[in-house]
Amino acid sequence: MIALQTDTMTENLKNILTQTLNTSLTGQVLVDVMRLDLLHPVVSGNKWFKLKDYLAEAIQQQKSILATFGGAYSNHIVASAFAAREAGMRSIGYIRGEPGKQVSDTLLTARSFGMEIRYLDRVSFRNPEKVIQENKHPAIYWVREGGYGITGANGAATILQHASLLQYTDIVCAVGTGTMLAGLIKSALPHQRLTGILVVNNANSIREEINRLLTPEETLKPYSLIPDYTFGGYAKHTKSLLENMCDLWFAEHIPSDFVYTGKLFFAVKDLVSKGYFTKKSRVLVIHSGGLQGNGSLPENTLPF
Ligand SMILES: *Cc1c(COP(=O)(O)O)cnc(C)c1O
Repeated sequence: MIALQTDTMTENLKNILTQTLNTSLTGQVLVDVMRLDLLHPVVSGNKWFKLKDYLAEAIQQQKSILATFGGAYSNHIVASAFAAREAGMRSIGYIRGEPGKQVSDTLLTARSFGMEIRYLDRVSFRNPEKVIQENKHPAIYWVREGGYGITGANGAATILQHASLLQYTDIVCAVGTGTMLAGLIKSALPHQRLTGILVVNNANSIREEINRLLTPEETLKPYSLIPDYTFGGYAKHTKSLLENMCDLWFAEHIPSDFVYTGKLFFAVKDLVSKGYFTKKSRVLVIHSGGLQGNGSLPENTLPF
């Protein structure tokens, strides 16, 4: 842990703040947003929390290369490239698919942080165990796609240390692999209900993957996964989603992305209007960052 104490990101934790939403959006329900997007312009949000304990372990094991997996627009890939560099390590990103004609912004950014990019065809990508076996090297520390794993969940569990936790009845976040939600389940207080807004279409397998990161007692904690706001699936988007993101920006000056937090904030607004929360609810929404993903939208789609 010591090696990471003085790095930029630890310093940047001071940037995190909690913002109360205007009641014109939320009616009588009090909604606070934890702004993890303010952590860092590129490596914002939950990805750094999920990575930090992996890096500490890698350093402890004297590994010099961090290798991980992701898509061409993955927040996790950029965050891994940056975090590895911060920790004085090299990094390798195994990327799903073929090298495109145009390299994505995400991969260019990752490369600018020194990441070596290697492409995997879709079949190989689905079998990371095999890739790990074939590329085994004593200097390499491997991290799963999205930072999935107990170490990642334990890192995400420290997110809630940045809020005055006791006052909240509800905690809501976006769910990709579910690693962040697993961490929040671990660290939430017994009276708190957790709600995960799925941004991918496979609710059942995600629930299993989340439970795999929890102890038997933790799986009994009250948490729900809501599958109604995927907008068609991972990284799919509609006009109304983008409009809602613009509205949020103009009303609250909160930027969001179309893959994760745009769907999260759409869901929160809709759930408020449907009475999912009560007048006595105090809701903490985790803005998990990830704004770099908007780089793949056509220019001028969003006002931020
Ligand atoms: C990766 C990501 C998530 C999903 O986190 P999981 O731990 O994979 O569920 C949510 N929000 C943002 C902005 C992300 O980049």
